[in-house]
Amino acid sequence: MRKPVIAGNWKLFKKSAEAQDLVTNILPLVKETAGVEIIIAPVFTVLGKVKDAIDGTSVMLAAQNCFWEEEGAYTGEVSPGMLRDAGCSHVIIGHSERRQYFGETDATVNKKITAALSTGLTVIFCIGETLAERESGKTFDILNSQIRDGLAGIRREDISKMIIAYEPVWAIGTGKTASNEQAQEAHSHIRAFLAGLYDHDAAETVRILYGGSVKPENIKGLMAQRDIDGALVGGASLNADSFAAIANYN
Ligand code: 13P
Repeated sequence: MRKPVIAGNWKLFKKSAEAQDLVTNILPLVKETAGVEIIIAPVFTVLGKVKDAIDGTSVMLAAQNCFWEEEGAYTGEVSPGMLRDAGCSHVIIGHSERRQYFGETDATVNKKITAALSTGLTVIFCIGETLAERESGKTFDILNSQIRDGLAGIRREDISKMIIAYEPVWAIGTGKTASNEQAQEAHSHIRAFLAGLYDHDAAETVRILYGGSVKPENIKGLMAQRDIDGALVGGASLNADSFAAIANYN
């Protein structure tokens, strides 16, 4: 039985006072006993503030990115160990916005995943095809190469510390959610591909989240799919009521 995960990716939003308000409004609304893991991923500058607010609750903290070196002359970077030190249990790696705007490749994603796992962080590894790739029938090829190259050298025993987020780029921030069937088809493909890379049991334990215009109105249908184990929520995670409605989907 895979425990569902609902993660809020705040992207580049929320300065400290707003972050404080949002997290303190979310906490009383989410049913922490509902058997759902809840994760919040704010910007680096408010990690400490959000950490203090969630202390003593079961809500967990994620960063939205990390570097692959632990320390050194790398101006502007933040290492996995520093994220642990700041109270993070999770880190998002390979988000399509990082691939699109910041030159991340499957190779740099792989280095980041390797470094993050070695410090004990749980990785939320994002993959997904663009609209052009979907329309030219390349969705599965793209997912395969993102997984194969992103997970190069990652051992089977580390797979349990990975969460995969399938985020079709065409559904992010567009209001266009993948249909339940489209999402399930991709998730089931991802699980089968993981079974080929590792084995059936490893693939069955990995949580695969859907991301892309998740809202209170569509979460139930998505969560009813066999291979959808949760959601990585962008826009709707910036509002306490909508994020809580998603987290409380059941
Ligand atoms: P939206 O929910 O705003 O479409 O964003 C999805 C996403 O990118 C989460 O990481």
